[in-house]
Formats: sequence, C-alpha cells, structure tokens
Amino acid sequence: MENPKPTILAIDDTPANLLTLGAALKDEFDLQIATSGEMGIQLALQNPPDLILLDIMMPDMDGFETCQRLKAEPSLHNIPLIFVTALDELDSEIKGLALGAADYITKPIQVETARQRIHNLLEREQLRRQVMTQRDQLADEITVRKLAQARLQLSAGVFSSAREGVIITKLNGDIIDVNEAFTRITGFSHDEAVGRNPSFLSSGRQSKEFYQNMWERLTSQGHWYGEIWNHRKSGDVFAEMLTITTVFDAHGQAQNYVAQFSDITDYKERQKELDHIAHYDVLTGLPNRVLLGDRLRQAMMQSVRRGQQLAVIFLDLDGFKLINDTHGHEAGDLLLMTLAKRMKRALREGDTLARVGGDEFVAVLPDMDDTASSMPLLTRLLEAASLPVQLVNVDLRVSASLGVTFYPQTIDIDVDQLLRQADLAMYQAKLAGRNRFHVFENAQNSGLRSHHDSIKRIRKALSSGELMLHYQPKVNMRTGQVIGAEALVRWQHPEQGLQMPASFLPTVENHPVAIDLGEWVIETALAQMDTWQDQGFELPISVNVGGRQLLQIDFVQRLREMLDRHPKVKPGSLEIEVREASALDDIAGVAQVIQQCSAMGVVFALDDFGTGYSSLTCLNRLPVAILKMDQSFVRDMLVDQDDLTILEGMIGLARAFHRQVIAEGVETIAHGVLLLKLGCDLAQGFGIARPMPARDLPPWVAQWQPDPAWSSPEPLPDPG
Ligand code: C2E
Ligand code: MG
Ligand code: MG
Repeated sequence: MENPKPTILAIDDTPANLLTLGAALKDEFDLQIATSGEMGIQLALQNPPDLILLDIMMPDMDGFETCQRLKAEPSLHNIPLIFVTALDELDSEIKGLALGAADYITKPIQVETARQRIHNLLEREQLRRQVMTQRDQLADEITVRKLAQARLQLSAGVFSSAREGVIITKLNGDIIDVNEAFTRITGFSHDEAVGRNPSFLSSGRQSKEFYQNMWERLTSQGHWYGEIWNHRKSGDVFAEMLTITTVFDAHGQAQNYVAQFSDITDYKERQKELDHIAHYDVLTGLPNRVLLGDRLRQAMMQSVRRGQQLAVIFLDLDGFKLINDTHGHEAGDLLLMTLAKRMKRALREGDTLARVGGDEFVAVLPDMDDTASSMPLLTRLLEAASLPVQLVNVDLRVSASLGVTFYPQTIDIDVDQLLRQADLAMYQAKLAGRNRFHVFENAQNSGLRSHHDSIKRIRKALSSGELMLHYQPKVNMRTGQVIGAEALVRWQHPEQGLQMPASFLPTVENHPVAIDLGEWVIETALAQMDTWQDQGFELPISVNVGGRQLLQIDFVQRLREMLDRHPKVKPGSLEIEVREASALDDIAGVAQVIQQCSAMGVVFALDDFGTGYSSLTCLNRLPVAILKMDQSFVRDMLVDQDDLTILEGMIGLARAFHRQVIAEGVETIAHGVLLLKLGCDLAQGFGIARPMPARDLPPWVAQWQPDPAWSSPEPLPDPG
C-alpha cells in the first residue's frame, strides 16, 4: 500500500501568499489552509498535520503567540513548524526559533528552497520518531529483562548466597550472570564466565548425544536435570547435579535459562566407599550379610522361575577361637583371608560366598537338585576349609561344620527363615562331631508340586475375599503432621489366622497371580480412599508394587483405568513404592514406567533403599521423589556405627539429589530423635504406629501427637 501524502497546514491571513507554494507542492503534500491562528490551532487539533507553515504577521493572534499555543498542546508539541515571514530580521528569526520553530522561510517564497527545507524537516522528523520508538522499545526490553532477572534471582533461591552454583544464560546459551557459589565451585570468576557459553566448563566426559538429548528435553519440556561432569579452572574434573530451567515471560515466551548445580563429587566418592562398606566385608572382600540377603533373594526368585532348586549352606569354622587366642588376631585374620580365597575357588562361577560373622560364612548354590548333586561341592568346601595355612613358623589348621538347606520347600519361606534352617543344621553338624555337613530335616522332600498348590490356595484367597489391607501411618516427627499411610497386604487365613506378606508373597512373586494380587491391592486402596473421602478424611496412600507387576506391558494403562474408576481420588495422593532390588532387574524399563506414571501425577518411592547393591545407580536413573531407607539400617542405627554412617550417607545423598527421605522401622522414640538430628524428619515404624485396619486409621490420625522429645532433639553423641 502506498504511503499517504504528508499533510501540511498553512496558517496565513492572506493565503494568496501561499498559492504559489501550494501549487508547487500539491503533488507531494496535502495542503490545508487556515486563515487565522485560532482556526489553525483548531484544525491542527482535529487532524494533526505533519508540518505547519506559520505566518508571523496576522491580526488578532500573531504567529509567535500561535506558535506558543501550538507548542503548549501535547498532541501538537512535536510537529515541526516553519515560520513564513517577510521580516527577515534577525530578531524575529531568533524569537521564532526560541519558541520552538524548526526553521523559517522568507517571503517572497523561493519555491525550490522552501521545498528543500520542508523535505529536510520532514525527514529529520521521521528520523527523530524512529529513534524515539527504538528508544522506547529498548527501555521496554530492559524493563522486561530486569524483571525477568529479578524473578530469576528470586526463584534461584537467594541467588548470591545460595550454596548451589547458579548460571543464568540467554537463550543462545551466553552467560549473563553467575553467583558466588559458581565461582567457589568452578574457580572461574564472574567476569571470566559472563559472555561465554557454559560448554567452556565441559570435561569432555559426556558424548555429543548426551548434550543433544539435554537440549531436546530442555526445549520440549522446559527443564532438564541430571548429573554431569565438568572441569574446574584448576583442570580438576568434578561431578555436579544439575537442574536447568527455562524462564518464560508473561506471554509464555522463553526468556532465559537458569542452571543450578551442586558439587556432588564428595558424595559420589563417599557413596562408592559406603556402597562397598555396606555390601562387602573389609577383611576378606567377600559379600557381607546385606549383600548376601540380596543375592539370596535373587537366587530364590530365579530358582522358582527356572524350576530349579538352590542350596544354602551355613559354614562355621571349628576351632577358630583357639587360633585367635593362642596366635593372636593377626594370625586369625590371615587364616580367614586365606580360607575365604580357597573356599571361593572351590565354588562355581555363579555361586555366592559371603562372610556373615567372625568365622561364619554362607554359600548360596543355585541349580542344586538334591543332596546327592550337591555332594561334590560340599566335600570341596570341607576340604578347602581344613587344609593348613602356613604362617612364618607354624601351620594353622581348622575345619568347618556345614549346615545345608534347600529352596523352595513345601512351606513358604523367606530369606531369614532359610538362613535359620541352615544355621540350625550347621549346629547339628557341630554336635555330630564337626568337620562335616548336616542337611536340614523336612527340606529334603520339597518339590515344585507343593508350590503349585500354594499358588492355587492364594488364588482362592484372592477370589473369596480373605485378603485385606492394613494401613501404617507415615509422619513428620518435627511438625507432627501425618503425611500418609502405607497399605500393607494381610491374609486372614480361615485356619491359620492372620498371615503376614512374608509368608505368602514370596510364593507368588514370580507367578502371574502376583499381578492379580497387585491390582487387587491398588483397586482396594483406591476404593478405600474413595470411602474415606466421603467421610471427609483425606490422606495420601502408598501401595507396594512388585517388579513383575510394574513391568507388565500395560501397567500404566491399567493404572490409568483404575484411577479413572475413582475420579474423586487425586492421582497425586496415590504413591507407589518400588523395592530397590526389584527396580534393579530392569532399571530402564522401571524408569520408563515411573516417568509415564509421574506424568499422571502418581508419586514414586524407592523402597528398602540401601539394600540393593547399586543404590547410586538406582538413584541416578530412577526419577523417584522419595527414598525409603531400609529398616535394617534404621533398626541398628543406635548401636551400630556402620549403619549410622550409611544412614548419614543416604540422607546426604537424598539431599544432593533433591529427593525426600523417609526412615522405615522407627521402633523407638530414640530412633526418631537420632534421625531428626541427622536431618531426616519423615518416619514410619512401630514406634509411631503399627499397621492397622482401615477403620482405625482416621481416629488414630485425629489423636496423634509427636513425642515431646522430638521437638527438642539433643546434640549428637560422640561417635566412637
Ligand atoms: P515394606 O514395604 O518395606 O513395608 C514395611 C514393612 O515393615 C511392613 O511389614 C511393616 O509392618 C514393617 N514395619 C514397619 N515398621 C516397623 C518397625 O518399626 N519394626 C519392624 N520390625 N517392622 C516394621 P509387612 O507388612 O510384613 O510387609 C513386609 C513387606 O511385604 C513390605 O515391606 C513389602 O515389601 C511387602 N508387601 C506388603 N504388602 C504388599 C503389597 O500389597 N504388595 C506387594 N507387592 N508387596 C507388599
Ligand atoms: Mg513399602
Ligand atoms: Mg520398606
């Protein structure tokens, strides 16, 4: 579209003066004529022109006064004004310019000069307007940016004093600002960082794809978090936990990125050590009791899956105490180390040998169908333990007593019971004269047929309503708030009474019926939440979901359907607990399920945290909100320095990874006091409440009060 012609307003009491000019300019401009100052002002107000030509000598109101009045109108103030006058005296020229006129033309009018002056003036005016608009835009932009920045800094959490490093960048990645913690962690000053791309910190440890994924996620979802290796100014490589967030303006337009990171190098190293201490025996390097529990559980699962039997052997050295007493502890240690190596060599690749006490060992041997087939291995173990160990000038010699049991059995049995059987059998081997093995009675006639029967029985329990859920409260010990409850399955057996999950869940663990049972649990919990909601009682409820169920191809879909059937229940008040060990079976698969469920709002917790043999891997790869520290660590924290250290490590880790942490198995007030001191406020355990039937929960919540000792925890006792 063509630009409209600029308009010129000519104010002159004798317009004839302007006729020549008007004729000359009419192709380029729209010319309006006013014959008095007053009329000119009115016309200009109605329709502001681009330029005003103003005669000085007029009756009533002369040009100077007209000019003053025009300039006093805000809407006309900026319109360029040219005096047209016969007076070519310096005086009036100066007076006119002083009043804000932009130029003057003398009469008689030289058409060409006038045209030139008008053009110049209009051009100058256009330029001025452009500059003004740009300046306004710039000012706007600066305000917006300042606001965004202020908001950023606020949301970055006390930007400058934060313990976490903070980087603020433009969308192209250029750094705009960093905080002091950034400098403290990386060694690079504010000035060294600003203007550069954060990739200057990169250590080269991450692949191109890693960064590509990061950007993709950042642009598609607005945020990214994960672990990344960078380098400091000194060249040292360090690990950071990094969260990048996009900052949007009021119109939803991406403005900046804020990266927050904490240095987790120490945590990682400590966790590596902890992981090792937590799972391996320092002296022999063999798995310890914790890791044994895990391995045994896995082996039990596998044996059921493969339809094979496994043997568990409890091994205690004969006469070890005597060696320790007569030759000293160092000799004893050396003997243990040597025997451990020999016994391990006597076993097969997939067998586990663990040290579970001073001179006690446990071997887990998969794929052992009966006593006969395990005979060669048992003999080799006995031999390995009884060969002499050479010290500088003496030969040390002990022997071993072995107790053997098999799995599965006619009765359902868990890890602890299995170990107890083997222990008992070992004791009988000792009684029978040592240096021999004894097989636990009742275990020989086990078989898979009975397993089949148990499954059938559990199916019936499920269909005839013998199963029910009990609820165990979870609380914040510091604030006294009840934060939720965990649903735990129970079997009201018509003959055997109330059965705990340990007595029947392991039987179904690897059987499809586990999925039916699992769905029953979720459905029942949701229905209960519905009922409670109607009674005005609302509480987040967590359910335990086994690995097999979680990895069902349609788990997410089924969960969504169940939630849809209970629209009153907010998905955010359903929590799913996944045992760390079962998550380890297929971390990638579990991670995916968690992600999809989280998108629906369902919260995830990693149960029995610390018992898996790579807790850090789990933590790293699973987007769970909550870590439930396993009760085995909590139970002994008051007496066992190692367990206390592990708990401290886990709490620190949770903090570094921005996860909530809750302790299970809080059996006494003292447990709670110590946990509070370690910085863990959330707890569940018999010391607070035992699992209870659904109807008891609301009145319990209504009356619960935290112990007074929890509001004023004393300082930590000296370790050691
Ligand atoms: P979990 O998920 O770690 O549940 C906590 C267990 O610790 C419960 O045992 C609870 O009664 C017990 N407990 C809580 N506080 C204390 C305490 O202070 N001291 C001691 N000694 N124990 C405490 P429960 O009910 O026997 O359940 C055992 C495990 O069975 C659960 O461990 C969970 O892994 C599994 N389980 C229970 N219900 C279900 C279920 O519906 N589905 C699945 N897949 N697993 C379930
Ligand atoms: Mg649980
Ligand atoms: Mg647990």
